[in-house]
Amino acid sequence: MMLWLLGFPGESLMLVAFAFAWGAVLGSFANVVLHRVPRGESVVTAGSHCPACGAAIRPRDNIPVFGWLMLRGRCRDCGSAISARYPRVEFACGCLAALMAWSDLIAGTGLTTADGSRTGLDRLLSFGDAQPLVAWGLHSVVLIAIVTWTILEWDAAAASGSSRETSSSGLCPGAAGLAAAVLAVATCFPAIAPPHLGFTIIEAPWHRHAAAFAAATAGLLAGRLLGGWLGSPADRCIAALLGAAAGWPSVAVMAVVTLAVPRRNLGMALGIKVAAAAGILAFWQPLHHAFVAIRALANGG
Ligand SMILES: [Zn+2]
Repeated sequence: MMLWLLGFPGESLMLVAFAFAWGAVLGSFANVVLHRVPRGESVVTAGSHCPACGAAIRPRDNIPVFGWLMLRGRCRDCGSAISARYPRVEFACGCLAALMAWSDLIAGTGLTTADGSRTGLDRLLSFGDAQPLVAWGLHSVVLIAIVTWTILEWDAAAASGSSRETSSSGLCPGAAGLAAAVLAVATCFPAIAPPHLGFTIIEAPWHRHAAAFAAATAGLLAGRLLGGWLGSPADRCIAALLGAAAGWPSVAVMAVVTLAVPRRNLGMALGIKVAAAAGILAFWQPLHHAFVAIRALANGG
């Protein structure tokens, strides 16, 4: 797919730049969700339009981050200001996708080296193994969904301060579909699923797939229960999705983070949660080793 940009000096940099661009495009879609879902509008109909005058955004002005910069934050038709949040969200999503490309494909600190093998890029190039690429795609989508739900919660909190009514049901759109997708990918690609629960379900060729499905489901349920007990609907969705993608220990880490951050400053609390989710996925290997070491100590070495 993108093999053409690999195999020469600076390939890692090219890969990260490509990942940033893809993440920024996903961030652009996140902006559509953030704008339309609270208004009860469909996210699939029609193209982007100016919130002030309704004019359609031209394709060249719709390039993530750069479109806003070239327009200097003003609509080309009516000249009204376009919120700086649009490029900021796109930039943040680009950075998260780039971070996951670095961890899953280059540094090998993510879930892709769970079996102790080479880094993702090496596996992709030497063996044509696409699993690290699938892991990167999945993890960047998971993180961008978490960012989107976090901002929706922020917006809902701001709106409830004013007179506008908000329902909690619209706080994590797409959560069920994404959770199903994470379970499906984990089952199909056991190497990038959270490790199994430590027991053999059945000795059969499909054993690894069944174990991966069980581990992802256990993480999903742990996140759903603990997240629901801890806090808001967004907390529940975030913990469940992260649990399915990275295993139940990641839910435990998120629970500690949620309890530890002060709730007085909602913006900071939400930012820390997103950073924690990104940290869990990007540094899954070192965290996993620490977790195993702690468990060994608890068991008396
Ligand atoms: Zn306009």
